[in-house]
Amino acid sequence: MAKLYFYYSAMNAGKSTRLLQSSFNYRERGMDTLLYTFKFDDRFGEAKVASRIGLASEANTFDADLDLFSDVLSKRTTKTACILVDEAQFLTKNQVHGLCRVVDELDIPVLTYGLRSDFLGESFEGSKYLLMLADELVEVKAVCHCGKKAIMNAKYDSNKKIMRSGEQIDIGGNEKYTPLCRKHFMEGVIERDG
Ligand SMILES: [Zn+2]
Repeated sequence: MAKLYFYYSAMNAGKSTRLLQSSFNYRERGMDTLLYTFKFDDRFGEAKVASRIGLASEANTFDADLDLFSDVLSKRTTKTACILVDEAQFLTKNQVHGLCRVVDELDIPVLTYGLRSDFLGESFEGSKYLLMLADELVEVKAVCHCGKKAIMNAKYDSNKKIMRSGEQIDIGGNEKYTPLCRKHFMEGVIERDG
């Protein structure tokens, strides 16, 4: 039976690398995969899943308006063996429900990858419903500057001061966000000597 998986973590844990490796493993065996990523993420150009260690693959995109179940229905072929979704924190509740239908009605495994919480320590809609509905929850470990496991995402300004307000969706590069352990997130210490 197919399952819905949620690989969750703070940022810079290697989620996209894992997604691309999983896709490669299917394709190496002659199967096809469907990749999705969030439409407003243009860090690496349009419609790509790219990892920090240099791997990249073309991908379909989703935004809040996409009927994900119908989109998978229209794009899948008899060779489609797996659906992989990056930036899954940006999924809506309805899209998570759509992915549940892909698993339960089409019997295709769905692997989602996303952030556990935003830079204010609040939940994302997609992650919230994936944490509730996924068959399998897998934590991908990121590391704080102190060496402990990072479970939070800090956003900081040009003075390296942690930001405690702002819009949830504002995707930057590594210069604006950093993964922290809970203690250093609460204290607002974004680097070792900071
Ligand atoms: Zn720390």
